[in-house]
Amino acid sequence: MTEELFREDATLLACDAEVTAHSEGGVVLDRTVCYPLGGGQAGDTGWLVAGARRWQIMDTRKSKTQPGAIVHVIDGDPPEVGQALRVEVDAARRQAHRRFHTATHLLCALLPYPVDGCSITEASARLDFHTDEPFDKESLQAGLSRLVAEAHPVRHRWISEEELDANPGLVRSMSVQPPRGLGRVRVLEIEGVDLQPCGGTHVSNTREIGAVLITKIEKKSARTRRVVLGFAG
Ligand SMILES: [Zn+2]
Repeated sequence: MTEELFREDATLLACDAEVTAHSEGGVVLDRTVCYPLGGGQAGDTGWLVAGARRWQIMDTRKSKTQPGAIVHVIDGDPPEVGQALRVEVDAARRQAHRRFHTATHLLCALLPYPVDGCSITEASARLDFHTDEPFDKESLQAGLSRLVAEAHPVRHRWISEEELDANPGLVRSMSVQPPRGLGRVRVLEIEGVDLQPCGGTHVSNTREIGAVLITKIEKKSARTRRVVLGFAG
């Protein structure tokens, strides 16, 4: 098991950790600030540092062989098992993921259709909606810019399945339905705007999203409309 520090604090960019195993082209750590690929969001990159030694983290993945373990894919010879080191996230890349990821939640609030695909990278984000309705790029951009400017607080909390079962209204209000069978679900709330289960990294207030542009709207298939986001400038 790897302790997932990024789930509680997406602003945490470094931590101390120890190598617990070699696996799948990288190392498993006892704890990490690196988000592993999942939920459409790319894995973090960064560095492992021990004294004068530095190893580049090329990608972060959930282990396919050890449930709960997070693999840091390393370029070259990895550090030894038992090595104590410092984990550092690529801060600029993380910040891009946080901004784009939070912006995709705003799109969910603006477009009341089921989402059937999502990809968040450093350079762009895309979200696929299951609908045959045409989208108007200008009004969607205006809505997105308004929600950013309104500076809505963003926070996560954990909800037990018992609490979900007891609050059908809460479940109905979610723009994406929560997964079942995990015991507890992490939900992301953008105050007054959107509530949905999500494990990703987000900004703390919509104003931190800054200048995000809808660069493209595509009819991906008869029943799918794709919205692509980019940063201005
Ligand atoms: Zn999210």
